[in-house]
Amino acid sequence: MKPVVIIGGGLAGLTLGIALRRHEIPVALHEAGSYPRHRVCGEFISGRGLETLARLGLCPLLDRAEAVRASTAAFFSETKSTSPRPLPTPAICLSRFELDAALAQEFSRCGGDLRTNDRWQENFGEGIVRATGRRLQPEENRSRWFGLKIHARNVALTADLEMHLSPRGYVGLCRINGGAVNVCGLFRRRANDSATPKNWREWLGGKTGSPLHRRLATAVFDDASFCAVAGLSLRPQQAGARPECCLGDAITMIPPVTGNGMSMAFESAELAVEPLAAWSRGEISWAAAQQQIARRCDTAFARRLAWAKWLQRAMLTPALQNPLITLAARSDWFWRTAFEQTR
Ligand SMILES: Cc1cc2nc3c(=O)[nH]c(=O)nc-3n(C[C@H](O)[C@H](O)[C@H](O)COP(=O)(O)OP(=O)(O)OC[C@H]3O[C@@H](n4cnc5c(N)ncnc54)[C@H](O)[C@@H]3O)c2cc1C
Repeated sequence: MKPVVIIGGGLAGLTLGIALRRHEIPVALHEAGSYPRHRVCGEFISGRGLETLARLGLCPLLDRAEAVRASTAAFFSETKSTSPRPLPTPAICLSRFELDAALAQEFSRCGGDLRTNDRWQENFGEGIVRATGRRLQPEENRSRWFGLKIHARNVALTADLEMHLSPRGYVGLCRINGGAVNVCGLFRRRANDSATPKNWREWLGGKTGSPLHRRLATAVFDDASFCAVAGLSLRPQQAGARPECCLGDAITMIPPVTGNGMSMAFESAELAVEPLAAWSRGEISWAAAQQQIARRCDTAFARRLAWAKWLQRAMLTPALQNPLITLAARSDWFWRTAFEQTR
């Protein structure tokens, strides 16, 4: 069998590596960093990705890492809130520190050749899959998107997931393994905005008097878990438009407000397994394998990317935040639809 080379050992790359090893395909995976490591992520896994993990037999691994089940959510603006409501489908929450390391360990256990601290700088040719995560985009529509995350203790949540909206972005709080709470925000900084917060505590801590500010008033932050990421592009892209065989965020980054990026990483990996196995066995050409993967991913993700773009725009428009929260509090249909459209 021809070997597959995966560049990027995040969720897409590791999941693909494990799945290919289950078909006894030789795999080398090059990862620029090492494990364990903290990542900017809401650490809230929802949607079909959980079914992918179950099909790949990876649920016991999540259980061993003490993933926390999330079954309720509540939404807040700076002045309004919903009460906690059941999620249409339960999600799970697990720190990326644990999740990525557990998948890396499983990949090695399955016989994968994991090369950490190894940044790929060569071309992407036949047999090489790009799972290198988001593409850098310093500015989009004269705004810069960036993410911040830190773990905290001593935070009493009213629901398993709390989403706090503000004019500059949103902060998600969820219970994760080990009794901690993940505090993760996505923010937009406009080119001409001079009155922006000065440090991460101000960005993540919310406006004085807001529900978010009250929630984090007694928080004890774990400084070692702090991380930040900038240069995010949230404009939907198609796999078919990419010159390389791409998976996960390397195809496109779905607006994080949907809590679906990790799912798309897992799902895209699963969708790639059959074409890559056929290429490895010499049954189809690399071009055919790449086309099949791109087509499968674009078909699977088109609807949710369109919905996510709309949802993110609405949730980050200050004038729409309170009406959306009222709608989410009153309408079962809206509540269910908001979550189910990204399944
Ligand atoms: C603020 C924020 C909040 C989010 N919240 C959530 C959430 O709650 N739920 C959810 O499902 N998703 C969320 N996401 C999205 C989620 O984190 C991503 O969709 C997911 O991590 C994508 O996985 P990936 O494997 O494609 O990329 P990544 O996890 O980014 O992995 C890419 C890997 O490639 C490596 N790499 C890059 N270049 C090279 C190279 N040249 N050579 C070798 N290795 C390389 C990197 O080191 C990295 O390890 C959030 C994202 C942000 C920014």
